[in-house]
Amino acid sequence: MKARLRDDCFALPPGVDWTPVDEALARLRGSLTCVTDVETVPISAALDRILAADVFAARDNPPAANSAIDGYAFAWSSLGPDTDAEANLPLQTGRAAAGHPFRGTVPDGHALRILTGAELPAGTDTVVLQEDASVGAGRVRFRPPRKSGANARGRGEDAGSGEIALSSGRRLEPEDIARLVAVGVSQVPVRRALRVAVLSTGDELIQAGDEAPQGAIYDANRPMLSALVQRFGFETVDLGAQSDHADAIRAALNKGAAESDAILTTGGASAGDEDHISQLLRTEGTVTTWRIAVKPGRPLALGLWRGVPVFGLPGNPVAAFVCALIFARPALAAMAGQDWQEPLAVTVPAAFSKAKKPGRREYLRARLTPEGAAEVFRSEGSGLIGGLSWSDGLVELPDGAIDVSPGTPVRYLPFAGLR
Ligand code: AMP
Ligand code: MG
Repeated sequence: MKARLRDDCFALPPGVDWTPVDEALARLRGSLTCVTDVETVPISAALDRILAADVFAARDNPPAANSAIDGYAFAWSSLGPDTDAEANLPLQTGRAAAGHPFRGTVPDGHALRILTGAELPAGTDTVVLQEDASVGAGRVRFRPPRKSGANARGRGEDAGSGEIALSSGRRLEPEDIARLVAVGVSQVPVRRALRVAVLSTGDELIQAGDEAPQGAIYDANRPMLSALVQRFGFETVDLGAQSDHADAIRAALNKGAAESDAILTTGGASAGDEDHISQLLRTEGTVTTWRIAVKPGRPLALGLWRGVPVFGLPGNPVAAFVCALIFARPALAAMAGQDWQEPLAVTVPAAFSKAKKPGRREYLRARLTPEGAAEVFRSEGSGLIGGLSWSDGLVELPDGAIDVSPGTPVRYLPFAGLR
């Protein structure tokens, strides 16, 4: 079952021309909803899946108060009024170890040998570190720790039974697996993986491994976007590379609409004669060609084909990559049932100079120097795919004008936080 989107969900108000990035993102956020069904999987299969509901702790963690160290457990009240004086307590026979609790009660004024992770025996609330204690003749002598309850972990300190352990919309990371298992959860409701179809268009395209006739270009976008979609945690549907012919592209879009939840296309998205994606969407589906005030990037076509959203990315591989990270990633994540994804961004000093004019947001291929400043690729040419491999993130320059010189604080978005 697929949730339907309204035909006009991407429409811009009349008179709107250049759309600022933030507005485009806000519109995406407002128009896209989760389309994936729920299934229940064992924890062992839950990595990278998206939680479809809040998950509650099935038990307290820790399930009982226990010792954080190897030492001696006693009741704070055994120390009497002068809690700074050296303590000298008779040792109770026996010991408490992880998995081997002490069954009896430690009488007030006594201490018991205890190991890390052991449940605190009845009658005790505090533990002194073994290195701070000396043992002889059946007694333990020590300077007491600073306060009552020292070196003890409280019952339910990490999670209380019935508390939300992890919230709906979270994509499960390795540490989340530990969190869920620790609170007694063995299976979780998750979203079916989003299916994303990828289509390249252009008469000039040939495939990796093909002989290259004059004028041909290897189709770099489709393998790149398929790989990116996999990194996002989604399934890919391959729609191939199609020539600039309406029939071929229509058939591919039909296949995409039948087999996937969203379609990414590259090439053919501007207003030129060969721009069949825009044309087809306009005549047989719905489309809003967004002139987004972004570099690299425009044009970006957003439309619906048989009810399935189509993201018409620019043909240029660098622009396609940047637009996929900035626009398609959060949009697809929302469709997949994830929380809205803001890119991870840090403010770092620039290691470059640039006088930027107002009017559009710019993303520069960048990487961090060993000193933690952002340097940018030698050229902004959007045909230079090598600059993507050179970089490990993007510098995001604001919509307005800015004069950047070495040391100017800039926003740096590591690729690691964008996929
Ligand atoms: P278009 O958006 O179709 O006008 O294409 C813009 C530029 O991107 C042209 O130089 C195309 O050759 C190039 N391009 C389009 N699609 C791809 C692709 N799949 N792989 C590599 N380059 C492409
Ligand atoms: Mg083209």
